[in-house]
Amino acid sequence: MRKPFVAGNWKMNMDSQTGVDLAKAIADGSADLAGTDVTVAVIPPFVYLQAVGQAVSSSGVALGAQDIYFEEKGAFTGEISPAMLKDVGCTYVLCGHSERRHVLGESDEVVNKKVLASLAGGLLPILCVGELLEERDAGKTEQVVEQQVRAGLANLGAEKASAVTVAYEPVWAIGTGRTATREQAQEVHAFIRKLLAEMYDENLAAEIRILYGGSVKPDNAKELMSEPDVDGSLVGGASLKPDAFLQIIQAGV
Ligand code: PEP
Repeated sequence: MRKPFVAGNWKMNMDSQTGVDLAKAIADGSADLAGTDVTVAVIPPFVYLQAVGQAVSSSGVALGAQDIYFEEKGAFTGEISPAMLKDVGCTYVLCGHSERRHVLGESDEVVNKKVLASLAGGLLPILCVGELLEERDAGKTEQVVEQQVRAGLANLGAEKASAVTVAYEPVWAIGTGRTATREQAQEVHAFIRKLLAEMYDENLAAEIRILYGGSVKPDNAKELMSEPDVDGSLVGGASLKPDAFLQIIQAGV
């Protein structure tokens, strides 16, 4: 059975003190979830990973990074390796977030290298996929998502695929306040699961968590996460407010 998973992507927000305060509030507020099955992660900017990691270290809250570089070490100025992320206590790493794809020009090939490097380095990748508004309007959602899932998981054997989480994040819903309906989310999540079954097998597809992301808020989290193939949320804006994020976690339990 898949455990629900709620992750907060802080993007390029917070400073060191507000980040630590937020992390502590989330750690404290989720203490009573200890007996539940929900996985909670916070994903701060690189420079605050260590401080935030310390703030959540005695809680069940996991630490994730927003990006990774696929080489082990060397002359890659500005980049962060898998070993460095492990060293500061990361468990998860986002690969191919839509802002990296569409603002920073990251290709499917690069995303795939990041997924493979994360796993090789002992990290758990969260592969983000999702269509632009014009692609949805042109009826190309499944085509775009299929391409991103197949390319993102290229050369990944079944033995490691269950360590991957997929996040379906329609680009038109990210940071816009416009959320996919529960039906729209479920339709694409079911499509992704069917695709994973084709790429691997039904048992493996049934194990892989598929999160929804895109303007998840306390008032829509429950209905989205109650869909059968929506296994949790990747939350941006609402993860910056402890009360809102804690309510979303609660909705996923
Ligand atoms: C995200 O950053 O992955 C995201 C879904 O952002 P928001 O919740 O703000 O739409």
